[in-house]
Amino acid sequence: MSGRGVAELQATADRWVPPEVAEILLSPEEIAARVKELAAEISRDYAGKDLHLVGVLRGAFVFLADLMRGLTIPASVDLIAISSYGAKTRSSGVVRILKDLEDSVEDRHVIVVEDIIDTGLTLNYLLDLLRDRKVAGLEVCALLDKPSARKVECRARYVGFTVPNAFVVGYGLDYNQQFRGLPYIAILRPEVYGGDRNANAG
Ligand code: IMP
Repeated sequence: MSGRGVAELQATADRWVPPEVAEILLSPEEIAARVKELAAEISRDYAGKDLHLVGVLRGAFVFLADLMRGLTIPASVDLIAISSYGAKTRSSGVVRILKDLEDSVEDRHVIVVEDIIDTGLTLNYLLDLLRDRKVAGLEVCALLDKPSARKVECRARYVGFTVPNAFVVGYGLDYNQQFRGLPYIAILRPEVYGGDRNANAG
């Protein structure tokens, strides 16, 4: 993975880059190629199994849509929306379910599809919750991993890219509900979020 300047991306791809963006980390082409690889790996590993994808809203919806379309095996999908109780209490790991799953996960081979693993607190909570619902198998597919920000042990079987400890947006990831539609993944200028990486993420 290589970072590159805004000017280069604008010059080569003629894409809109908002002024809040400091650096482009991953181009649409790099993301698409990696998502295809992940889908191929999952298709191999889950051949013959009842694969059930659980997408975590809202950040994972773009990744989930592309990942699903890359699969070459049958899979069902459900969505869950969770939120921490706000930036101040994030470190507690207490998570609120805003929208629960619609289908039972009992006896199913579940892959949780996440946008990014940061502290690991949200995912840990979600994995405990799903384990309690007696899944047959439980794995994680995260597009991005920020291992240097980890507060609790949390590992994903499938990871798209490892990223530096900075606030990233685009391809579903937001800051204050903005930037989700960017087709690339970019680092936001620290002055935009006042240096608090954990503010208003979701
Ligand atoms: P965690 O509980 O700290 O691992 O992070 C949970 C959620 O915070 C992720 O699923 C994202 O929605 C959000 N998040 C964490 N880091 C970032 C980031 O750099 N950009 C955008 N959202 C983030």
